[in-house]
Amino acid sequence: MNGNALYEITAGYAARRIKAEREANKRARDAGLIAPAYAEALLLERDALLRYGKAVLETPEKADELKAALEKERAALVASREAALKAAGIDPASLLPAYECEHCRDTGYCGDPIKRPCGCMAQRLMEAALVGTHLDERVSFEKFDLSLFSDDPMNGRAESQRAYMEKTRRAGERYCERFPGNPRPNILLYGMPGVGKSFLLGCIVRRLIERGHNAIMITAYALQDIVLRERIQNQNTLALAPYINVDLLAIDDLGGEPRINNVSSESFFSLINERTRSNKATLVATNIASSELQDRYGERITSRLLDKSTTSIFWLRGRDLRQG
Ligand SMILES: [Zn+2]
Repeated sequence: MNGNALYEITAGYAARRIKAEREANKRARDAGLIAPAYAEALLLERDALLRYGKAVLETPEKADELKAALEKERAALVASREAALKAAGIDPASLLPAYECEHCRDTGYCGDPIKRPCGCMAQRLMEAALVGTHLDERVSFEKFDLSLFSDDPMNGRAESQRAYMEKTRRAGERYCERFPGNPRPNILLYGMPGVGKSFLLGCIVRRLIERGHNAIMITAYALQDIVLRERIQNQNTLALAPYINVDLLAIDDLGGEPRINNVSSESFFSLINERTRSNKATLVATNIASSELQDRYGERITSRLLDKSTTSIFWLRGRDLRQG
């Protein structure tokens, strides 16, 4: 999720809160027209607060005494205010701000003194993360349709594509179960186009985001674009920071990006290297063979990607689903 999305979420909270409070003020003003004694009590209460503030500044040594007097005065005013509303047939509760979320009163945070994001905030962050990662709502383990895969034995094997995908799906779900404690934090999905690599990556990313982890899915093409722009601007724009720091980064279609000298492969290397060093999970889907990986990205990045001590490698076999 980018900073812009976070800004929009925060601005949304401010807007909802202001709207609820403005509407409540309007209802209070209307109530004052129907029940003048209510409006009168509100004014007196405001006066009492102002007088109290002034008196505490003038005679701070009497603060306790003044506070007790204020509390007493306010209690009487609240009682007369409520009596005025009751006489006019107005429910006092109807004058309170109608927040969308009563837990956090549309602030997004709960708790005192330590503030934590409210459940509604967590939900919004999750939705923004899913939107930010451009995951289609049909991409999820729940909607993983095994019937799309052939049940006939694959060429030269006893196993069908469907059985193999079922096994791979279970491995993906298990990976999410254990996240972030997987003995091998990285996954490399290798396979021809149309065998379900992107779908599987997307399922993992969605499941992790739903469980409150940070995860980003991006094509190698888009990632290279960010890397190159950062290089061209020749300054640390922090544009890459989210991809370095996110708990799980899923890079789709590695090798599908245009081949541009060794700038991009160096940058990919430092990105993956940095992530491995800080024990962050990186998932990669590609359809280029390991010899070509080596040719394209060099020895260092290839051995990182294929390192069996940190990476589980899945070969997705079978026919191209997109060709029916
Ligand atoms: Zn809330």
